[in-house]
Amino acid sequence: MPKIHLLISIVLVAFAVASCSSSPTGRSQMIWKSDKELEAQSRKAFNQMRASMPLSTDRKKIDFVYCVAEAVVAVLDPPYSDFEWDLAVFDNDAVNAFAMPGGKIGVFTGILKVTENQHQLAAVIGHEIAHVTARHSNERASRASLTGIGVNVAAIILGGGHSGATYTAQQALDAGAAVGISLPHTRGQESEADIIGLEYMAKAGFDPRESVPLWQRMAASSEKAPAEFLSTHPASETRIENLVSEWPKTLPMYNEAIEEGRIPTCSKE
Ligand SMILES: [Zn+2]
Repeated sequence: MPKIHLLISIVLVAFAVASCSSSPTGRSQMIWKSDKELEAQSRKAFNQMRASMPLSTDRKKIDFVYCVAEAVVAVLDPPYSDFEWDLAVFDNDAVNAFAMPGGKIGVFTGILKVTENQHQLAAVIGHEIAHVTARHSNERASRASLTGIGVNVAAIILGGGHSGATYTAQQALDAGAAVGISLPHTRGQESEADIIGLEYMAKAGFDPRESVPLWQRMAASSEKAPAEFLSTHPASETRIENLVSEWPKTLPMYNEAIEEGRIPTCSKE
């Protein structure tokens, strides 16, 4: 009997350790997967996507996305500032973008039809990077592993609504148009990515107020915009209210960036 008790207490401790971490905004997170392992698997999946999906060859578009992403990444704190961030601009009409553990960012050219300027693209990229720094993939992978389903990490990142499925990059692309690349984010994760993303863009010198027209335009393009930006997101009005309620905090960050000379000039054309 003592042995059984010991086992039970070990299991309880394991659960306690797994459940007691908290996200950057103070939401409690159940995380018990290895970040390093997820990062390695993400790198592999990202390389597969880059090898099999058409990349943009439009120099202006690539430079524009690179310029915005570089400015946002520059304001990150360790350990994320130490990552070798990678960017791929996919030639695809889907209104989509994603970021993976380990610092891999993918932007579909379709999103550039929705973003009117550098500030709005920064809102998107800040949101995606926030999913990484808030360890949302690990949260999803941990939750999936608790259910005992052997879930492919790439599937979780690329469209984990299909638990247990093994996605190839091409299948992910095909599915991406229909269901979105990051289907399984929860609303809590989405709201959190909005808030943290707003801070990143402001610190980088992008106007956080531009996030409002951006998400309104995103909602208006809902026929093309997949799940990452719509179905699991807070309802548009709530989302806008949440963003506006963060302005007293983020506008001073923006003003400080401008004063300190962080004034990005990423040109769309
Ligand atoms: Zn999101």
